[in-house]
Amino acid sequence: MLALGPLILTSLLGWSQTSHRSPYPAGWGDFRIDDSLMVETGSKARHRMRRMRPKFITIHSTANKAKGADARTHARGQRNGSFKSTHNSLGFLSWHFTVDQGSVYQSLPDTEQGQHADYEGQGNRESIGIEMCENAGNDTNRTIDRTAKLTAVLMKRHRIPIDRVVPHQHWRRIRFADKKDLGFKNCPGMLLENNQLGSKWRRFLAATQHYHRQL
Ligand SMILES: [Zn+2]
Repeated sequence: MLALGPLILTSLLGWSQTSHRSPYPAGWGDFRIDDSLMVETGSKARHRMRRMRPKFITIHSTANKAKGADARTHARGQRNGSFKSTHNSLGFLSWHFTVDQGSVYQSLPDTEQGQHADYEGQGNRESIGIEMCENAGNDTNRTIDRTAKLTAVLMKRHRIPIDRVVPHQHWRRIRFADKKDLGFKNCPGMLLENNQLGSKWRRFLAATQHYHRQL
């Protein structure tokens, strides 16, 4: 009986690991995508749904340093319709994923347009938007690493090449409401240096490619 104990325990653990196997590589730790707070079909930022075939991935960071402004809070806010916009065609800001040090929340299906990049421009018509959190206490490096994994998953899922992973800064913004040219936004602040792409951005792309090769 004493000798059998560890054996039974081992086989139980083995069964448990098999039945809860993550679809992601073993080295990715606790990486997962939480879709429990998606914006409901037909409501808020999905009251008018526009189909999309994603060809780009646009990286943002929230610039929201408030303590509680984590991924879950942003997902809840989208679901509740808190991110209103009086200048775009939808009436709400919306994006697909929000990432912080410990979680990824999905708000919109990959195949619906958001309003996160450039009003009626190609950035919104053809790209998946990812927001990285900057809330106080949130670890920047862990957030960037989790975002690289998510980006790799989306590249694989939609056959998007690395040269179509772009910073929000890539897209010129022509405001919907009055057609005013707002130029290019300095976003994602977390990955820019003096408002330019530099080594931080290159390191993020390298990490994304590293994870993409593991899929
Ligand atoms: Zn942005």
